[in-house]
Amino acid sequence: MTARILVVDDLIANTKLLEARLSAEYYEVLIAHQGMDAITICKDGRCDIVLLDVMMPGMDGFEVCRRLKSDPATAHIPVVMVTALDQPADRVRGLEAGADDFLTKPIQELALLARVRSLARLKVVVDELRARALTSSNLGMTNLDDPSAKSGGDNARILLVDDRASSSERILSALAPLYKVELEKDPQDALFQAAERNYDLIIVSLALLDYDALRLCSQIRALERTRQLPILIIADIEDTNKILRGLDLGVNDYLMRPIDKNELLARTRTQIRRKRYADSLRHCVQTSLEMAVLDPLTGLNNRRFMESHLTQLLAKAKVRTRPFALMILDIDHFKRVNDTYGHGAGDDVLKGFADRIKQVIRPVDLLCRLGGEEFVILMPDSNLDIASKIAERVRATVEDAPFVVENGAHHLPITVSIGLAARGNETRPEELLKRADAALYESKTHGRNRVTLAAA
Ligand code: GH3
Ligand code: MG
Ligand code: MG
Repeated sequence: MTARILVVDDLIANTKLLEARLSAEYYEVLIAHQGMDAITICKDGRCDIVLLDVMMPGMDGFEVCRRLKSDPATAHIPVVMVTALDQPADRVRGLEAGADDFLTKPIQELALLARVRSLARLKVVVDELRARALTSSNLGMTNLDDPSAKSGGDNARILLVDDRASSSERILSALAPLYKVELEKDPQDALFQAAERNYDLIIVSLALLDYDALRLCSQIRALERTRQLPILIIADIEDTNKILRGLDLGVNDYLMRPIDKNELLARTRTQIRRKRYADSLRHCVQTSLEMAVLDPLTGLNNRRFMESHLTQLLAKAKVRTRPFALMILDIDHFKRVNDTYGHGAGDDVLKGFADRIKQVIRPVDLLCRLGGEEFVILMPDSNLDIASKIAERVRATVEDAPFVVENGAHHLPITVSIGLAARGNETRPEELLKRADAALYESKTHGRNRVTLAAA
């Protein structure tokens, strides 16, 4: 997977070195020698990941990071801080400034590539979700949450998998004041628990006694229920190879023993913040998708869905030279129901109407609510003959028995008028709908409670 990486460092020798290493792995590399240039490149959306030097004259790396992370336009771009090995406090400062990760100078090749790879993978997912969420918010359906507002991680639940008391006690004491942490010593039980409950993060010790911790990590990634769960592994200095394999398997981050409490807290917070951001994007996409195509009152597909679906069905019918028909339905004197019994009763009629009709149409027929008390039924593979039988069934089932509304308070006789049209030569959905609508008008003017077939 390739990505565009922005390398920010005031020293040309450093940028050259990183550029050479990264391009050797087929990454595209952009260079900036000062903070403001880096911010501009990020705002223009020209890079996927930023490698950011801490020590720069003018605006230092912390400030660049803070600015990137506080701007909704750039907050989602992963930032890796490059810090000096002898300044451990810088790592924590970087993570606190919102950095997603850090590397220490001199940069180890394998660590560099592993970090970049896992961030590139994450970026692809977040970008896709962001694009969909932005589309829906452009359509006016949802507001895209500002990711920087998602920093809290309040009430986060963490599962800690560790079978050594000395180690788990240390981790627990650091995290327990801020998060709900559950300790699990048995890796198999941990997997079960992770799938059953909603955690925001799982922390796995690589030093499990009789079990390969990486197996647990790969199982977590394989299960549908836990695929999105962030994994942080706790490793020992000699575990470098295991860490790299873990990152390949989809482990999100690692921490070396001896555990630095502040680093643990900062990495935990970063993982939780990312997960919450991705969750909110996913939620936003999901609800906007549903809102975009479903009518909340009846649960039927709405006009928007009907129009795009009709276009496809018509095109398909034409290609296969199959018949196609649709009907428009309009409840008779529906305004009277509202006026006499109230809006709630009207809503009950609409719901009952939808339920009743679903019982008498075929599974391939699609009932949609156009709006108000108007509905459409799309009927693939149906000529006027078949369609008019269906229409008559629909008309009759509405008339047959009164509608029970307001929990049985009233029984209301309801009728429906229907206009029916079958596909002729038209390719545009509007033309077919227009003919059905004209037929519906005929039904209304000729006494209602009837079906009218449109002239071809
Ligand atoms: P006609 O037989 O000519 O169709 O008369 P009608 O009264 O059914 O038609 P009209 O278009 O005059 O009135 C439709 C009414 O439907 C007006 C509107 O207040 C009501 N309506 C639209 N949407 C809803 C809804 O979601 N719930 C309820 N309860 N009423 C609705
Ligand atoms: Mg109407
Ligand atoms: Mg009506």
